[in-house]
Order: sequence, then structure tokens, then C-alpha cells
Amino acid sequence: MTAYMEHKDLANESIDEARARSIADGVHRVLDDVARAEEQAGRPAGSVQVLAASKTRDVGEIMAAVDAGIRLLGENRPQEIVAKIDGLRAQGAQRGLVIGASDLETAEGADDPEALNRLPLHLIGQLQSNKIGKVLPDADVIESVATLDLAEKIARRMAVRGRTMGVLIEVNESGEDSKSGIAPDEALDLALAVAALDGVEVQGFMTVGANVDDEATVRAGFAHLRGLRDAALAAGVASARELSMGMTGDKEWAIAEGATIVRIGTGIFGERDFK
Ligand SMILES: *Cc1c(COP(=O)(O)O)cnc(C)c1O
Repeated sequence: MTAYMEHKDLANESIDEARARSIADGVHRVLDDVARAEEQAGRPAGSVQVLAASKTRDVGEIMAAVDAGIRLLGENRPQEIVAKIDGLRAQGAQRGLVIGASDLETAEGADDPEALNRLPLHLIGQLQSNKIGKVLPDADVIESVATLDLAEKIARRMAVRGRTMGVLIEVNESGEDSKSGIAPDEALDLALAVAALDGVEVQGFMTVGANVDDEATVRAGFAHLRGLRDAALAAGVASARELSMGMTGDKEWAIAEGATIVRIGTGIFGERDFK
């Protein structure tokens, strides 16, 4: 268990007004930055979704971001999803929103999930095989699939549930030891192998940008990920449209290189007290 989970009640639903206002300001700033970056890149308004990366944040903080306009959530740890999901679903229901995948099978209009007022939940951190059961009911997409073994285990269990899990292939574009993800030159083969499984749908690719200030280096990784996505589409994986790349510090570069999802933590919620 990660230490901060013992010090903070992640299920807490009420935060003070000043905190809610600062989160709303963060969301508005990020949405403005993203709109400007879309325009500068000559891309249509709304072509980039902002995922709120809400690790270490409680239900009240996350709902403040939702109230300010966030429509996509990302968690790093299965245990955090378990700690927050009941509160998120209850708070979402009060606003007419379906948060996460767990109500999909029973929700009205479930035969047409697009018709629901949906707020999808992505897992963006590493997933160990023994934790799969914690995320399957609630996650819409697992962004961190880097091995065929993990994809097969997810696929088998989803087939039993009669649902399909969206997955992104996580690629270690920078080659940094500290990062997870498959090597760039093995990523296309993995995507094609995963796409052949029942129970999962390859929706695209994910990476964490190189941990350097050099724009050309960071953008080269993002551009390579785009090439992988385009190659997967060309190989017939029509669902592989998404490029999840860019965080608070490098989202503009990622959007210039074609990101469809940027994952923003600090820019919305401020600096983390816990790592
Ligand atoms: C924390 C995290 C983010 C957001 O990072 P910020 O720099 O706080 O915006 C994005 N992606 C992943 C995988 C993360 O763990």
C-alpha cells in the first residue's frame, strides 16, 4: 500500500470553496491552453480531450474538476480506483453523469452507451496481473498495456463479463529506464497481436514524454508514436485512433504532434503533496 493512502481519505467528498475555485481555475486555464494549441496546430477545436490525472486526489477534488468541465478521468493505481469509485458514481449520479464503466451493463440506454452522459475512467498507471480484478468492473480503457501476456489476461476475463475493454499500447519512446512501456520497434507487432484478441479493443497508443527540456527530443518521441498509430490504422486496426501523450509540461508539443488525449495532473490540481 502506498504511504499517502494511509494519510489521506481519498473517498472524502467535500472540499472547501477556495480549493474548489483553485481547481476550477486550473481546469479553465488548461482548457484555454489546449484550445490555443489546437488552433496553432491547425487542428479542429475539440480534437484533443483533457484527461484529469487524479492520482492522490480525493472524490471532492475530482468532482470540482468535473464541475469545471472535465469529461475524462485517469487513475494510476487500482487501489485508488477502488477507494474512490463509489463516491464518484454517487456524485456523478447527482449530476446525471455515469462515471466509469461499472453501471454500463445496467444503465438505461446501455445498448447505446454513446447516448449516456458518460464520463469514462482510464487506468494510466502500471497494472500488475494480480490487480486486474480491481479495475475490470470500473475502467473503460487501460492505457498501460505493454505486454501480450497482460492483454490476454484482460481479454479472457472481459470475455467472461461479456464486455470489451478499451486498451492503449504503452510505448517507452524515450527509452528511459524509469519508464514502463514496450520498446518502440516492438510496439506495432504487439498492437496487431492484441487487436486479434476478443474482449479487448486496441484504441491507440500512449507514451510519457522524455524527461528533458529539449523540444526536438520530446517531440521526436511523440512523432514516432503518431507513426505507430498511423501504421496500425494502415494495417487495418480501424479502432486505433487515439494518441494519449502530453502532460502539464509538454502538452503543447504533444498537441502539435497529434495528441488526441492529454493527461493533466498538476495543471489542474496543483503540485502533489504525495508522489
Ligand atoms: C501523473 C501522471 C500524469 C500527469 O502529470 P502532470 O505532470 O502532473 O500533469 C500523466 N500521465 C501519467 C501516466 C501520470 O502518472
